[in-house]
Amino acid sequence: MSGLEVGGLRAGYGAVRVLHGVDLVAGEREVVVVLGPNGAGKTTLLRALSGLVAARGVVRVGGAPVLGLAPEEIARRGLGHVTEERGVFGPLTVEENLRVGAFARAWPRRGIDDDLARVFTYFPVLQAHLRQPAGTLSGGEQGMLAIGRALMGRPRVLLLDEPSRGLSPGLTDRLFQTLGVIAGREGATVVVAEQNARAAALVADRVHTLDGGRLAA
Ligand code: ATP
Repeated sequence: MSGLEVGGLRAGYGAVRVLHGVDLVAGEREVVVVLGPNGAGKTTLLRALSGLVAARGVVRVGGAPVLGLAPEEIARRGLGHVTEERGVFGPLTVEENLRVGAFARAWPRRGIDDDLARVFTYFPVLQAHLRQPAGTLSGGEQGMLAIGRALMGRPRVLLLDEPSRGLSPGLTDRLFQTLGVIAGREGATVVVAEQNARAAALVADRVHTLDGGRLAA
């Protein structure tokens, strides 16, 4: 069963329609990039998938319908979302932030140390700063922490909203390569909303553009 299936997804804010029928199918281990300029609706799409914006249509995670469920329930069914704001808890240590992420999964207490070790293989810098308050990390490191925290929830589908924001081109390339590795090793579906077409092309199995509220190949 494919990781993520989206059909006829419509969403907006009050009278303002943003998504007019988005269709997308992405399998396990696939990295799919959604490109689009500012205001195209990339953030709205990711928020609609994770239940943060009301939407109509069909969204399936691992074959199971999730549209209409509460965001925390959608997270528990395997959808991880790294928002544009990243949302790390500044006063908590790096380790505490990562452990919080484990509560998004069905069995929060099992296998946490193994999962932490796996996250460190992707982002060694997090291990180096384990006891440091997250707020003292650089912006790029906080971005890695946000991804690491989402991985602690063992997502089937991982959504990332402009992970390249604030990163140098070199760091952006490295991050995208790591996302490719994560998709393969975790068996996850990775969906990245981006403005940076060059970096996206490095690892994307498929690139779609969001235009006029719909996705084009
Ligand atoms: P960005 O790269 O700036 O995040 P985006 O492609 O993610 O852009 P969205 O943030 O999804 O685009 O915005 C799509 C449209 O929805 C824009 O026209 C925006 O003004 C509008 N919009 C976004 N959030 C709201 C809101 N809370 N209320 C009303 N309109 C909104």
